[in-house]
Amino acid sequence: MTGLIAKRITEIRQELPPHVRLIAVTKQVSVDAIRQAYVAGVRDFAESRIQEADQKIAQLQDLPDITWHLIGHLQSNKVKRALELFTWIHSVDSLKLAQRLDRLAAELSRQPQVCLQVKLAPDPDKYGWIVPELLADLPQLEACKSLKIQGLMTIVPLGLSRSNTLAVFENTRNLADKINQQAETNLCLQELSMGMSNDYPLAVEAGATMIRLGRTIFGERTP
Ligand SMILES: *Cc1c(COP(=O)(O)O)cnc(C)c1O
Repeated sequence: MTGLIAKRITEIRQELPPHVRLIAVTKQVSVDAIRQAYVAGVRDFAESRIQEADQKIAQLQDLPDITWHLIGHLQSNKVKRALELFTWIHSVDSLKLAQRLDRLAAELSRQPQVCLQVKLAPDPDKYGWIVPELLADLPQLEACKSLKIQGLMTIVPLGLSRSNTLAVFENTRNLADKINQQAETNLCLQELSMGMSNDYPLAVEAGATMIRLGRTIFGERTP
């Protein structure tokens, strides 16, 4: 199986526009497989859980130019550790979490890059803002001066058709455009973190700037 991860990464890169950042999702993936992806040129890696990330990052200290991204729901008691481990937090999913991150980031002198997680289709299983609530929270989000709010993140509900999936991605991009045009906010949402193994071509078509791929790179996860 040697070389399979590298081969998949090469194939994905060939079909991606150069401005799209490929993030390798390594939950339930071994440190050895992460090293193979690193050798193949990947520098952006994502984890969903703090504890799992903590252990792996400790074993990868010899690769200092990795950028770690958090993509899973963050519990308030793990915010401090998350700030120590991750450069990017894609899963900022409530005002309360944003404000706690902001407060602790200031204490730790960190400036995390964050995405605001939004739900453009109803999904009771997922965290994130629905649109009217996000629009209402914008002034208080903007006041979180230790956070570098860079964009929006979304996860498409399971089982949507191709056209409905594309619509979710396009609506996410349109929401970012709308917020960027609002005279009353200074937020500049340039990043769109959207697209996973089963839907990333549609996300790229709709303007994704960061895609988060696990199984396409590493194969099926075995819990
Ligand atoms: C697991 C996960 C991914 C990657 O999913 P794959 O289907 O393995 O590509 C992307 N984003 C989030 C938020 C995830 O939890």
